[in-house]
Amino acid sequence: MKPKVITSIQEIQKWRTSKESKSTQVGFVPTMGALHEGHATLLREARKQCQEVVLSIFVNPTQFGPHEDFSKYPRTFERDLEIATQEGVDVVFAPTASELYPQGYTTYVDENQLSQPLCGRFRPGHFRGVTTIVLKLFHLVQPNFAYFGLKDAQQFFVLSKMVRDLNLDLEMVGVPTVREADGLALSSRNVYLSPEERKIAPALYRHLIQVQNQLREAPETHRQILQNASQSLTTLGFQIQYFECLTLPEFNPVQSTLHLKSSFLLAIAAYLGKTRLIDNLISNSHPKASVELGGC
Ligand code: AMP
Repeated sequence: MKPKVITSIQEIQKWRTSKESKSTQVGFVPTMGALHEGHATLLREARKQCQEVVLSIFVNPTQFGPHEDFSKYPRTFERDLEIATQEGVDVVFAPTASELYPQGYTTYVDENQLSQPLCGRFRPGHFRGVTTIVLKLFHLVQPNFAYFGLKDAQQFFVLSKMVRDLNLDLEMVGVPTVREADGLALSSRNVYLSPEERKIAPALYRHLIQVQNQLREAPETHRQILQNASQSLTTLGFQIQYFECLTLPEFNPVQSTLHLKSSFLLAIAAYLGKTRLIDNLISNSHPKASVELGGC
């Protein structure tokens, strides 16, 4: 059955009120559309756990910097609706920008610790846009469970912190990264890659795995390992923004020796031509996140 498409705040609130029975669990998957198998996996997780599944499609202007790809971000609404139908979504919430940010809009939400390193350093204002829009969507949809991909690990941890700090009554579910057969993490932005760049792109994941293995062998040399891997990627044509290992859940830089038994995040962001790619591995001891490939 086709999902109900809702575009107005009034209508989504009306829908939510109609589902207020205590036994109805609402699962929510926020996206910017241009759906792929990664998004479909989140929808499947929601479908398994919840009676009602809401998908939002909204290219959120406040999380893009002035020189980023907001205007050229892929918009494929009809195809997205087909995927939503296949995955048994109940409601697609697809508001316009002016519905969520009417003229004179001035209220924003900031998480001030986990949002600072990694992407926060290179995309000023990005996480402020993310926390603001996701809090607004949480208020409108009032989900019991919210599903996010661990491909955007920092986003997941920042939003989980917001949920805890603001006492929101919902559970955050982190879903492992879905990849192409050659290891490239699925992303709506992969369509920007030229055929040549597409061939090079999986090197990002290969280097993550290689670094993970080298860290197991010699955790005290983590800085050198990361530096060598960055150098190798640069030679292949990547422009590295960061390639770092941070403790979880604090997001502190790892000090002299990496403790393999504690939880950590190995994260990378790099440009390949004009396309910004991110990827990560999460060590398997962190309770909030499922493991990828046995973790570090
Ligand atoms: P986006 O539309 O790119 O903002 O992503 C919407 C949601 O899908 C976010 O929670 C992402 O982390 C998640 N997502 C995107 N790509 C993947 C992937 N390859 N595997 C798993 N989840 C993903």
